[in-house]
Amino acid sequence: MAPNASDANGVLFESDAATPDLALPHAPVQRADAYPRQYVWRNILLFAYLHLTALYGGFLFLTSAKWQTDVFAYILYVVSGLGITAGAHRLWAHKSYKAKWPLRLILVIFNTIAFQDSAIDWARDHRMHHKYSETDADPHNATRGFFFSHIGWLLVRKHPELKNKGKGLDLSDLYADPILRFQKKYYLLLMPLACFVMPTVVPVYCWGESWSNAYFVAAMFRYAFILNVTWLVNSAAHKWGDKPYDKAIKPSENISVSIFALGEGFHNYHHTFPWDYKTAELGNNRLNFTTNFINFFAKLGWAYDLKTVSEEIIQQRVNRTGDGSHHLWGWGDKDHDRTEADAAIRINPKDE
Ligand SMILES: [Zn+2]
Ligand SMILES: [Zn+2]
Repeated sequence: MAPNASDANGVLFESDAATPDLALPHAPVQRADAYPRQYVWRNILLFAYLHLTALYGGFLFLTSAKWQTDVFAYILYVVSGLGITAGAHRLWAHKSYKAKWPLRLILVIFNTIAFQDSAIDWARDHRMHHKYSETDADPHNATRGFFFSHIGWLLVRKHPELKNKGKGLDLSDLYADPILRFQKKYYLLLMPLACFVMPTVVPVYCWGESWSNAYFVAAMFRYAFILNVTWLVNSAAHKWGDKPYDKAIKPSENISVSIFALGEGFHNYHHTFPWDYKTAELGNNRLNFTTNFINFFAKLGWAYDLKTVSEEIIQQRVNRTGDGSHHLWGWGDKDHDRTEADAAIRINPKDE
C-alpha cells in the first residue's frame, strides 16, 4: 500500500494538526491485525542473556560493588537517559527545540552510551510511533498488549505495514546533521566502546574495582535498567494513568514512569502535543529532569527555539477531548470550589 497522509493516526508535528486545538481532523483508532509473529531468536537469546546478567549485576550493586562503582552506574543511567530523552526523543524525533553543535555532540555521546540504536534509527521508529500510533505501523503498538509494547516488539520481525508506511516518512532533517550521520556510520564501533567497554574499564582503572563488579554493575545492570525504564514509557504509560488531554488514545499521565524516565511519563499530554519540548504542562518541572536540563542549556544559549503550547489551546483541548481528570487551572477556574476560594488566605489583594 502506498504511503498515505490520511492514514495518520496521531499528530507528529504542529503542521499535521487540522483543528484549532491542534488535533487531527478525524478521531484516532486502535487497530492490530492477527498477523502471525515471526520470532527473531538471536534477539531473544541476547535479551535473555542481558537480563540474567543484569539481575546478577543488581545483586552485586547491593552487596559487593564499591560505592564509587554504584555512583558511577547511577551517573551513567542519568546521562544515557538524557541521551534518549533530551537527545533522540525531544531534539531529534520531535524537533521540539534546536541545539548548537556542542550540545548535539554531548547528547550524541550520551545517546551512544544508552545503546538504543543510532539516534537516526530511534527517531525514525519514534516518528512512526506517533504518526501511526496504535496501528500496525506503530513499532510498539500498545493495542497488542503490555508485553509486546514493552519488549516483545524487539523479539519479532517488524510488521509489513511499518516498512510500507515508513517509506513515506521524511528523515531529511536527521541526515542533514553530520554529527548524527557520523554516529550512524560508525555505530557498531562506537556503541560497544560507549555502552560496555568504557563503563567496565573506568571503575577498574580509576578506583580499583574488580572486573566482574565493573562489568555486571556499571555495564549490564545499568544498561538493562535504563532500557526497561525507556520501555515503560511504551508499555506502562500507554496503559495506566489519567487522560486529561485526550481520552480517545491509550497514552496516559503516569507519574511513577516520569520519575524513572527523567520526565517522560506525562504521556497523554505528549501524544496530544508532541512538539512541546517539556513533554508536559508547565508546573511539572519538578518531576521533569529533562526539561530542567534543556532549560539549563537554554540559559547558556546552546539550546534555543524551544517550542511549547499556549494555555488557551491546552484548555480548549482539555474541555473538548479530555477525560475530566485535569487539575484546576488555578485561581478562578470554573471548577474551583467556592468555599475553598473563600477560605484561602490572600495577601494584599487588589482586585476587589
Ligand atoms: Zn507513546
Ligand atoms: Zn514522543
